[in-house]
Amino acid sequence: MKTGLWCVRKLSLIFLTLSILIPLSFTKAQVSAPGGDPKQPIDEAYTAKIKKYTTEPYFTSPLVDYLPASKTVPTPEAALGDIAGAPGILPYAEQVYKYMRLLESATPRVKVYSIGTTEEGREMIAVAISSEENMKRLEENRALLEKLADPRTIKLDDAEADKIAAEAAPVYYITGTIHSPETGAPTALMELAYRLAVDESPYISDIRNHMITLITPVVEVDGRDRMVDLYKWHLAHPKEFYPPLIYWGKYVGHDNNRDAMGVTLDLTKNVLNTFVEWKSQVLHDLHESVPYLYDNTVGDGPYNAWVDPILTNEWEMIGWRNVADMTKFGMPGVFTHGEFDTWSPGYLMFIAAMHNGISRLYETFGNGGADTRERTLEPEEYARTWYKQNPPLPKVLWSQRDNNNYEETGLLTSLHYFSENRVMFLKNFYLKSKRSIRKPYEEGPAAYVLPGDDPRPTLQADLLRVMQRQHVEISRATSPFTVTLPAKKKVKREKTAAAKKPEEKAEAKAETVTCEFPAGSYIIRMDQPYSRIADALLDYQYWSPDDPQKTPYDDTGWTFGELFNVQVVRVNDVKVLDVAMERVTIVHAPGGAHASGTVFAINNNAEPALATLRYKLKDATFDAAEDAFEAGGRKFDRGTFLIKNVDRSTLETTTRDLGLQAYALATAPEVRTHPIRAARIAYVHTWLSTQTEGWWRIAFDKLGIPYDYMSTQEIARIPDLNAKYDVILFPPVGWNLPATTIVDGYPTSWGNPLPWMNTPLTPNLVGKNDSTPDMRPGLGWDGVEKLQEFVDRGGVLLTATDTSNFAISLGLANGVSVTSPRKMKIVGAVVETQLVDLASPIAYGYGDKLAAYCDQGPIFSLSSIVGARQRGRLGPEMNERPTGRGRKSDQDFVVGRPEVTPPEQPESEDWQNPTVTDEEKYNNPRVIPPDLRARVILRYADAKDLLVSGLMEGGDEIAEHPAVIDVPVGRGHLVLFSVNPVYRGETEGTYSFVLNTIMNFDSLNADRKPDER
Ligand SMILES: [Zn+2]
Repeated sequence: MKTGLWCVRKLSLIFLTLSILIPLSFTKAQVSAPGGDPKQPIDEAYTAKIKKYTTEPYFTSPLVDYLPASKTVPTPEAALGDIAGAPGILPYAEQVYKYMRLLESATPRVKVYSIGTTEEGREMIAVAISSEENMKRLEENRALLEKLADPRTIKLDDAEADKIAAEAAPVYYITGTIHSPETGAPTALMELAYRLAVDESPYISDIRNHMITLITPVVEVDGRDRMVDLYKWHLAHPKEFYPPLIYWGKYVGHDNNRDAMGVTLDLTKNVLNTFVEWKSQVLHDLHESVPYLYDNTVGDGPYNAWVDPILTNEWEMIGWRNVADMTKFGMPGVFTHGEFDTWSPGYLMFIAAMHNGISRLYETFGNGGADTRERTLEPEEYARTWYKQNPPLPKVLWSQRDNNNYEETGLLTSLHYFSENRVMFLKNFYLKSKRSIRKPYEEGPAAYVLPGDDPRPTLQADLLRVMQRQHVEISRATSPFTVTLPAKKKVKREKTAAAKKPEEKAEAKAETVTCEFPAGSYIIRMDQPYSRIADALLDYQYWSPDDPQKTPYDDTGWTFGELFNVQVVRVNDVKVLDVAMERVTIVHAPGGAHASGTVFAINNNAEPALATLRYKLKDATFDAAEDAFEAGGRKFDRGTFLIKNVDRSTLETTTRDLGLQAYALATAPEVRTHPIRAARIAYVHTWLSTQTEGWWRIAFDKLGIPYDYMSTQEIARIPDLNAKYDVILFPPVGWNLPATTIVDGYPTSWGNPLPWMNTPLTPNLVGKNDSTPDMRPGLGWDGVEKLQEFVDRGGVLLTATDTSNFAISLGLANGVSVTSPRKMKIVGAVVETQLVDLASPIAYGYGDKLAAYCDQGPIFSLSSIVGARQRGRLGPEMNERPTGRGRKSDQDFVVGRPEVTPPEQPESEDWQNPTVTDEEKYNNPRVIPPDLRARVILRYADAKDLLVSGLMEGGDEIAEHPAVIDVPVGRGHLVLFSVNPVYRGETEGTYSFVLNTIMNFDSLNADRKPDER
């Protein structure tokens, strides 16, 4: 108790000291209160317009209800002709940039940096704003932050880090309008930049003097310009419906915010590089959807399992503080807990979470343009809840200015809070970086190893390039090495009485195995600052079906090694870090031509680069070996390319560039072959959505495979499809639409045409994609007939997920139906599949099994009889004996007659065409002839093996069912995918199913064994 007394005394001493200090800090707080500096004049006219365009007094704050005046620095009005957030005004990216550059020329507090271009060649910028002093020492400051970002440079010296944290200015990076229909951010960010540069109030000076604010006002620049075009069209045709924004960027729409894993899009690369090069602490991305400001910094569980808990605590601090500050201003509808889970690292803002920074995202309330509109909310949106004490109002007049007020107020309070606590946040930044470097010793793994003898070196190189885009360091072993790995766990035994005995339990002890890797194996060391992103992408994911979160916000699994069909070994043994290795800056699979001869053989391991080669060497003769063979002392697999009529030096250069190994043979090998052709491809999209097909397009463009891109309207107009094309690709639409919607499109019986064309009013709309005078008509029944005719006459139609549903429900695929899931829930997960028919050219290069991306199927079921009732598991199956004498295994017994043995019941697996009985065959024109039945290439694995990564519930409904089917139709083929083989740049391992189909389009029946059962 004595100690306790001493404590009390000591405490009161501290209290005394504190009370002396209190007046000081109180004064400081007062000085820093939000609101203008009375000594600085305000821009009266601008301020009056702010008031005019704000629809309710509580939709603003003391931070943004005035604009400070400046004699030298122009306000946003100079570029917009009106104030930021004015009704009817939506600037193009160029106007926004022009204003930012006006600021740059007017004040030393602003600098504009070009950070790269988009796929359509438009510029992306980052605007830095800080005090003159900070701007002068930007490089010096960057060098300080660099030491915190890579603590290896200061030998993990905490004292040194403390010193730096006390003097450096943190970088807070804000990004706007990645989602093009969410239109408010650019004007909010123009005005924010002005305020940060001009406002002399203590609240804003604090931010300017201690922080560097970095702004990319428009992330999706291509989409922004199209959106502004549409808005102008809308203003010119106020009484008409205006076309939906069918294209945002060149390739994808909303999914541009799901690219932070694969980093396939230029906008992701540019923001990621800017974030990392500036050694930023925060990435704060602005979106619009729910009223009025959802700061999803806190969000909801499950949180991503690879982030540092220091970060999740920062989320909590920042998010709740944001709500608190805005609540004090009396602004309704600000909240931070909500249904957004922080599991997937695919969001743009998550670049920060995975690179030791802080990720944040706002959803403010947007009107999808600059109209002021009356907005009526749903009851759940205006309900008061524990986390929404001052909820939005049920019905309000809402303006773009209101939206801008919320965005700017949220950002300014955030910047101020960050500035107040900058030393702590910089120290946290250092700690997160340090803990990333200490990962091998504190939590593991020590490294990931990608073996030097992987049979798919080009896919391995592609995977490593994803890591490099993520700024992950890669090393390569200079000699062979061994590591200790945990032995594979035994499958748990059934819970029998015996198994519960304690001695039996003890045998489950973990054992280890020693594993040897060859020289040249790649090692991704985890003792580096960005180890977390490598770990998150290469590891496995498990989402429990019992998780309280029942509506995952996005994909639940993504294991990159699996989806790239590349070997990746997680190594916990820290000895791996002592292996002799060198840093690799350029990853390239070795390629070229070896030996001499005129026939070149390239082994087929389902590498997409093979298709690139085929199209690059258009005039050479390519054949595929239908069997494995040996030649020149080497073994070649089935599907091996045999290339003739090619100039050696061309082949040499091309294979070297592509990372493929060609072996010259003196003579053509004795093996069955068929031609591999550069098929002419028609690539079909709808005018309903281009989001999901966009990922296919970018994959084809990157592989250099040409195609004619056309809409469902266009393909229906081509008189003879077979004369122009060998293969029609119809990639997923992405909406899981009923077939009739693809046929019908939008309603045309009412309303006005929805043009998607470049006109003087809409000069950016079409870009590098497609155009139509009216988006509404769909494929039409003529179009359906055209597709059917194309296949009948020998063409190949390839569909996936919802377009497979479309083909099946229109009756194009005899004997294939789709079963509706009952309890099944597979949300963007990685599943295991098994090859069923390795002899099919579609399967060339694959092994017995591989992982694939699956999002809820569809579940394909087969029948050998057209229009037959599904042999589902719904009704009772009469395969069991009736009630009677004997045991269950005995045959039934009939009194008064000799025993008769019934014929054996035919059995078939879920991936097979069911056997047709003699009874069924008799006089039955609906029985599909054996050579016209579906040929199953790939199936889903057995239920117990099905889940690789992510969330799966009721997986037995799809287990063992077909995943890729080749259905003969007339003289052609319909190739149906249940998995999505080409997705978000994350699934290169399954690309070759599509590419094989294309290159073997006229030989798909190779080695087909008619189903005689
Ligand atoms: Zn959004």
